[in-house]
Amino acid sequence: MTSRRILLLIVLAGLAVAPAVLSPFMVTLLIFIGIYSIVALGLVLLTGVAGLTSFGQAAFVGLGAYTTAYLTTTIGLSPWLTLLIGLGLTAAAAFVLGAVTLRLSGHYLPVSTIAWGISSYYLFAHVDGLGGATGITDIPPIEAFGYPFLTRESLYYPIWLTVLVTMQLIVNLLDSRPGRAIRALRGGILMAESFGIATPRYKMAAFIISALLACIAGWLYAHLLRFVNPTPFHLDAGINYLFMVVIGGASQVWGAVLGAGILTILQNYLQDLLPHLFGQTGNYEAIALGVCIVLLLQRTQQGAVSLLDRLLPPPPAAPPGEVTAAERLPERPPLPPGTRLLVVMGASKRFGGLTAVNNLSFSIEAGEIVGLIGPNGAGKSTAFNLISGVLPLSSGEIRYLGRRIDNRSSRRIARLGLARSFQHTRLLPDMTVIENVMIGAHLRSRAGILRALLRLDRAEERSIRAEAARHLHRVGLADSMHLAAGSLALGQQRILEIARALCADPTLLLLDEPAAGLRYQEKQTLAALLSQLRSENVSILLVEHDMDFVMNLVDRLVVVDFGEMIAQGLPEQVQADPRVVEAYLGGIE
Ligand code: ADP
Ligand code: MG
Repeated sequence: MTSRRILLLIVLAGLAVAPAVLSPFMVTLLIFIGIYSIVALGLVLLTGVAGLTSFGQAAFVGLGAYTTAYLTTTIGLSPWLTLLIGLGLTAAAAFVLGAVTLRLSGHYLPVSTIAWGISSYYLFAHVDGLGGATGITDIPPIEAFGYPFLTRESLYYPIWLTVLVTMQLIVNLLDSRPGRAIRALRGGILMAESFGIATPRYKMAAFIISALLACIAGWLYAHLLRFVNPTPFHLDAGINYLFMVVIGGASQVWGAVLGAGILTILQNYLQDLLPHLFGQTGNYEAIALGVCIVLLLQRTQQGAVSLLDRLLPPPPAAPPGEVTAAERLPERPPLPPGTRLLVVMGASKRFGGLTAVNNLSFSIEAGEIVGLIGPNGAGKSTAFNLISGVLPLSSGEIRYLGRRIDNRSSRRIARLGLARSFQHTRLLPDMTVIENVMIGAHLRSRAGILRALLRLDRAEERSIRAEAARHLHRVGLADSMHLAAGSLALGQQRILEIARALCADPTLLLLDEPAAGLRYQEKQTLAALLSQLRSENVSILLVEHDMDFVMNLVDRLVVVDFGEMIAQGLPEQVQADPRVVEAYLGGIE
């Protein structure tokens, strides 16, 4: 048994016996830590994993608490029914808030959640029937199987069970198709969209899930105290929840519990201790707390959980036998060779006064490898971004299999069978190599959030993993499968991107300088792989700098300089073209 397992068992055993051995005060503290942990777990998903910040979680806690408080006391609904109503209201509120702000990037979500926090606090305090500053009292207890949870202690186990179940559900979610999409939201949106991931939907999902968890915490809170007032749902509390995940470690589930624990205990003890130390009362705890947090963050960027991580021996590497036989993912029917795949007609792109691509026209047929070459700054990457929908055209037309694609988003273009790599690699450095490649298969699989939470996605997940492993073998990265992608050399990161693109089962593969940073031998291997792909009817548009690499590989070359096509044809024709010689000799080498 690993020491991590042992520690986990000790923690679980400690939680199990705590009510029997600790003082009532400590048990109450643990109960509150459990409730805060549920909110913090939502923030681990939203902020730690997806990179979206919400200051408004306390307001969702309040919505859950006030919904049940009001409906159970005024019209006598069962707490179980009011939980459902609260979850419905919360989902609706989060949806509206998310719909307004999540599409916009930057600080709109934090700012709007602050507004949400302030305005809902105002409502809790001022709406008739909610009891104003005194709040609502005489909330009935939760009842289950005829047993009412009357005392605080009686809710200890239900609350901690909820925490543990929530942790497991989040772990399940993160290790899944929708989980990878959510993990890509932090710094990988452009890449994710290029593989067909509808990033706004996953942002919304993460936001709603975190709000629902806050609502559940609020419901528990109301039935624990049996009264509610507006104070605990103030914006300050929303900031506190964020502090918890920052302190604990925002990207791991245990970080939420640890952070909730540390902050709650610190706040409690500092409140009692400091006036003693200084011999007078005052608002010292805020200052002392701030100092503690700064000290902790200086020691570690990833919060307390990472300190713990360093003390423990590393977890054993994932066993290599993990990739098991599985049913193959669906594949696209092959196109007959000679089908017109891509037609670029008079495409232009202007950046202000600079024309990066000027009236570019060329086409690609199924089964061809076409090289797009030209000196640095010639507009090759821009042309790529136009074709893959990352940038809108200034003028011109692009067709794929006869359909206009120049007005489509990269996500919709990906659906048609286009997959790409990026000149400046775009991968998720903290995820393993194979997980990065698995993102490529997003459109070939279907598991949604519910299936992932309940682990009903395992068969499909095995298929995705097997497919990713197959392509990693193909490109020669199988040995690095379980390493963090960020630990690969730059050249290998480019190869990873090819495997990820292949995982999408593309009909046209767009590769932007895949050989850059590779050694001679590695370039040979890559060239052999690309030839192999052509024989499997994958067409390739290859941007390359290295003339030698391209010459023996491609069927045709398109040469651009200053955004304009200066030559196109067979490699040997192009090589002899005086304009190409001039552009190239005048440009590089
Ligand atoms: P290549 O890939 O052939 O080296 P690029 O397509 O990256 O060339 O760039 C072509 C020209 O467009 C360069 O002059 C570059 O500075 C400019 N350019 C590229 N992207 C942008 C952008 N987003 N904004 C402004 N100028 C850009
Ligand atoms: Mg480029």
